[in-house]
Amino acid sequence: MKKKILVLGGGPCGLSAAWELSRYGHDVTVIEKESRVGGLCITNEYKGYRFDLGGHRFISKNKELVENVCNMMGNELLTAQRKSVILLQGKTFEYPLSAKDIFLKMDLWTNLKAFTSYVIAAISRVIFRKKDISFEDWIVNRFGRTLYNFFFGPYTEKLWGISPKLISTDWASQRISLLNLKDVIFRLFKLKKGTPRTYAKGYFYPKKGIGQMFDIMSEEISKMGGRIILNATVSGIQISKNGVESICYTQYGAAKTIDCDAVISTIPLPDLIKVFPGYQVQDVIHHTASLKFRSVRFLNILVDLPDISDNTWMYVSEGKYITTRIQEPKRRSPFSAPEGKTSVMLEIPCNENDEIWNCSGESLLKRCLADLKELGIDIQDKVIDYFTTSVIHGYPVYSLDYAMHRQKLFDFLDQYENLITCGRQGTFRYIFMDTAMEMGITAAQNLMLDNACKKTDVQLMRSEKELIEVTSVTA
Ligand SMILES: Cc1cc2nc3c(=O)[nH]c(=O)nc-3n(C[C@H](O)[C@H](O)[C@H](O)COP(=O)(O)OP(=O)(O)OC[C@H]3O[C@@H](n4cnc5c(N)ncnc54)[C@H](O)[C@@H]3O)c2cc1C
Repeated sequence: MKKKILVLGGGPCGLSAAWELSRYGHDVTVIEKESRVGGLCITNEYKGYRFDLGGHRFISKNKELVENVCNMMGNELLTAQRKSVILLQGKTFEYPLSAKDIFLKMDLWTNLKAFTSYVIAAISRVIFRKKDISFEDWIVNRFGRTLYNFFFGPYTEKLWGISPKLISTDWASQRISLLNLKDVIFRLFKLKKGTPRTYAKGYFYPKKGIGQMFDIMSEEISKMGGRIILNATVSGIQISKNGVESICYTQYGAAKTIDCDAVISTIPLPDLIKVFPGYQVQDVIHHTASLKFRSVRFLNILVDLPDISDNTWMYVSEGKYITTRIQEPKRRSPFSAPEGKTSVMLEIPCNENDEIWNCSGESLLKRCLADLKELGIDIQDKVIDYFTTSVIHGYPVYSLDYAMHRQKLFDFLDQYENLITCGRQGTFRYIFMDTAMEMGITAAQNLMLDNACKKTDVQLMRSEKELIEVTSVTA
């Protein structure tokens, strides 16, 4: 039966849901706050240069998803190989960390300290059964205090803006590199065989930036009869005994209402809760205040040089530099800059309305050019122009008790059978765009087939406590 389904938010998750629903002939409408679709996956064009909001790349374990994206993109999809490094104390380390690289580049004293603290950590884990409560424990218990202080601690604190003691272990298990010293030692003494796991190196990237993928997807949705309403902010939900009846939104200052049979929400989970009538959420509203997002500013610099480096990403650990990652968009697609020129993009984590968020573009440029020079990238005399961009909902902050607060909100939403929340913002999960897309598609299938799977199956997709980015179906 044809259903009238509303999708809140036109990022990768919402668009993928609408893509799937319109393929099966449902009456689908996407309500998107911004003047364009794509969410965190947009690409800004300026004077012939292209910049994503942070360097994106498309990888996925899901063969069907990859095939569908390849078919949709045709010749517009390129493939590239990832090469990333960590810039630290004047040295360049491989990323992910490799024990051999650390051993060769660090001085003897630091190597000794690193080895001793690793052995102490390993023994304490076995003898004292040390538990991982925070991100810091997780790392120190596996790598030792020296490597934690050197690589992981300062970077993590800069990225999240809080002490790693206050960050949940959930982030570590999926994100931290494959540096496994036990594995390295076992292989060295031939006690272990087989190929060590490595990060997915090959990836897909559209010629005109990551945003091109979602521009094409939105064109397809429109061709199949789906509607996308832009500049429309979801502002209210109307409930009846059958569940969600209609959604209210504001567009150019005017309040509008649209009826529905079902809703797929991909807008930030706290924002969704806040648009319910007050009496509905009185028992859970305080949990929304505990789910915080880390924001990011991006400094996009147009550079009068043909190339800067051959790295996809350069990670910057030290706290004295405000950036966490430096990226040269041309490494992803040669169409990111005019011929003979290049560009640089810096990711600068911050909180909405803090000093970095409010600082002028000019001051940010001045500070970052000085930092870049210290890091060995001197482009002071080569800047053609620059601009800054920003996102409020960059990263869901995994505080120690975030999962409890999130679960309370999921439990509240569970009473509405015709509403499902999904995506990075909708589930408050640190997921990549491929998982966001899978969630959107599965949520759509769930509604089309009358709750074919549990909502939690959608919301917890790819939550296995193993490294993401290890395997990928790529070219
Ligand atoms: C710096 C950075 C680098 C990244 N790099 C990669 C990468 O290399 N590879 C990768 O796979 N992933 C990467 N990601 C993650 C990727 O961007 C996300 O996983 C993906 O965008 C999530 O899609 P989504 O649709 O769930 O959320 P979003 O993209 O955030 O979309 C949500 C949408 O909802 C809209 N919205 C919000 N509130 C309202 C409202 N009240 N009313 C209407 N609309 C609303 C927003 O405007 C937005 O369009 C990166 C993320 C960041 C921050």
